[in-house]
Amino acid sequence: MSENCLFCKIAADQIPSKKVYEDEDFLAFHDINPAAPIHILVIPKKHVVSMQDVSGQDSEWLGKMMALAPSLAAKAGCRPGPEGGFRIVINNGLDGGQEINHLHMHILGGERPWQQRA
Ligand code: ADP
Repeated sequence: MSENCLFCKIAADQIPSKKVYEDEDFLAFHDINPAAPIHILVIPKKHVVSMQDVSGQDSEWLGKMMALAPSLAAKAGCRPGPEGGFRIVINNGLDGGQEINHLHMHILGGERPWQQRA
């Protein structure tokens, strides 16, 4: 856990969130300021700042995090099949639009049109 990290505090239950999924390594919760009708954030519980800090050794947990997306999206109400779907976004660093320095995967969905902000 990194001190003064909002998402570490959410992972440690020190700050409340609207959780939709939790296991030993990951937590998923509703974004507080949704950029789409469906907007879920998935975080690793361990503090990793961004994709700029990962290497090949992180492939396993990163793969697991990505693989959570379809079931979380479906559970949150994203429509299945080519007519439905969802976006996965990971912002990295200031130039990459990252505001919270704890790696997080946005899952954005819901019927179009909706404005792309994330
Ligand atoms: P951006 O805000 O540009 O999308 P990030 O990729 O760093 O930058 O995303 C941080 C996300 O965290 C934002 O979508 C924001 O609404 C969300 N957020 C901030 N605080 C909370 C919180 N307490 N609970 C849930 N989501 C939060």
